Amino acid sequence: MELLKQRIRKDGTVKGNDVLKVDSFLNHQMDVALFEEIGKEFKRLYEGCGVNKILTIEASGIGIACVTAQSFHCPVVFAKKSQSKNIDGAVYATKVQSFTHGKIYDVIVSKKFLGPEDKVLIIDDFLANGAALEGLIDLVRQAGATLVGAGIVVEKAFQPGGDRLRAQGIRVESLARVKSMSEETGVVFVDD
Ligand code: 5GP
Repeated sequence: MELLKQRIRKDGTVKGNDVLKVDSFLNHQMDVALFEEIGKEFKRLYEGCGVNKILTIEASGIGIACVTAQSFHCPVVFAKKSQSKNIDGAVYATKVQSFTHGKIYDVIVSKKFLGPEDKVLIIDDFLANGAALEGLIDLVRQAGATLVGAGIVVEKAFQPGGDRLRAQGIRVESLARVKSMSEETGVVFVDD
């Protein structure tokens, strides 16, 4: 998505060799007009797939997921990062290792909000090693719901998550795919 790539080139900053900071328009301050364009692009990609629920993970996926849900006219469920002691039979639960902090979180969704009748589009801001996406996919499977695919804003294609998930037959659509990046060279996209 050209508009998104332009914005990353203009306002994104690279930390070390593997973290892209996009706090000025995606992860802290949010450019809702850009989100609307992102939402429309996910709608175009997944049009006709019968999506009736969007699933994301707190916190940074929620804004994008909400704007995307407006295009699909469906609800958003966000998986919550939880303390183990709160987990009971009323939730689906899985574990996710955080890319940014390294910690392992229990992640839960209430059984009330995900079930076999759902055709789920997973939305997230970044795809790196794939742990967040795999956790969400696990929750979809536990619920007996149908996974339509995933919509990712920024995929760091030099990290293994995207390839691994696509090799499993999962549809992963990423609007900007980063081939490489460094503090010196900035960001290079796969299709540059
Ligand atoms: P994964 O689970 O695929 O390794 O990482 C995905 C999650 O980690 C995303 O939900 C996102 O919040 C965070 N993340 C991974 N890489 C980056 C990055 O380069 N920049 C930012 N801002 N977040 C990232």
